[in-house]
Amino acid sequence: MRVTALAGGTGAAKLIRGLAELVPPSDLTIVVNTGDDARIWGLHVSPDLDSVTYALAGRLDVARGWGLRDETFNCLDAVGALGAETWFNLGDRDLATHLVRTERLNAGEPLSAVTAQLARRQGVASLILPMSDDPVRTRILTSDLPGVASGWLDFQEYFVREKASLAVVDVAYAGASDATPAPGVVDAIADADVVVVCPSNPVTSIGPILAVPGLVAALHATRAPVIGVSPIVGDAPVSGPAGALMRARGLPVSSLGVAQAYRGWLDSLVVDVRDAEFASALRDLGIASVVADILMTDHAREVALARVVLEGACA
Ligand code: GDP
Repeated sequence: MRVTALAGGTGAAKLIRGLAELVPPSDLTIVVNTGDDARIWGLHVSPDLDSVTYALAGRLDVARGWGLRDETFNCLDAVGALGAETWFNLGDRDLATHLVRTERLNAGEPLSAVTAQLARRQGVASLILPMSDDPVRTRILTSDLPGVASGWLDFQEYFVREKASLAVVDVAYAGASDATPAPGVVDAIADADVVVVCPSNPVTSIGPILAVPGLVAALHATRAPVIGVSPIVGDAPVSGPAGALMRARGLPVSSLGVAQAYRGWLDSLVVDVRDAEFASALRDLGIASVVADILMTDHAREVALARVVLEGACA
């Protein structure tokens, strides 16, 4: 069964670790958000691509949800001692990824080719595709900047530097209208037997993927069932700032809000047992609900939820 997953970072990495136990590597393709890519110390950092790659390579720091297991931060400390900015945590071995990526991008290779090489070198046989080789950058309009009435921040400035503490007024995907899907992305959606929308932030992880022209059309057109997993339980995300971002987009912070964000092309949504009540509202949007325990607190639960997803898609 060929499975194509749309993915952001931490929530997606968990489900993908589960899917990888059930789907042969060569049948698993992951289309990854690059809207929160950033330039740090002159290096091209792709947080979601790296989380997915490290997850499949068995190298992810699972407790943190990002970066490498058993990481050290000596370079970060040294950079700080020299007076440079250290709000973005780059680990010592993680730095190797960004150095190699940046060097190859500077040499003119597209991000998709660099991503494939990095994955191969880490022993990952699944196909990991950035949503686009073109730069698409999520920008957050805040109203709380100290001394400033409001301002646009890069996603990582909002999320990491400001710890997602500022009021969000709007979200934009800069560059999206000029972007094209990376090679293989549209085919991966068209040729899949199942398309999975991972439990990722609908606004800043899946939103940028959907903003790339042609991808929503591909989701409409695919013959594969498209099934999502809600990142929201009750009225709050399992982690991260999805609530504030969904509110800024006029979406209710609930599984129903997730369904509204994906209406038109999503066939079914896995919602938590506590949200079974949304079944009829989802049905009104043309979306079937699959009720399950959607918290992935250990690897067994990652696998169990992945099984629910694959069975739910084919039900
Ligand atoms: P961000 O942290 O909001 O930038 O978003 P990411 O897309 O990188 O990943 C975090 C998302 O995954 C959040 O919206 C979480 O609610 C969701 N998430 C994290 N862990 C779990 C989990 O165990 N189960 C489910 N269903 N969602 C999760």
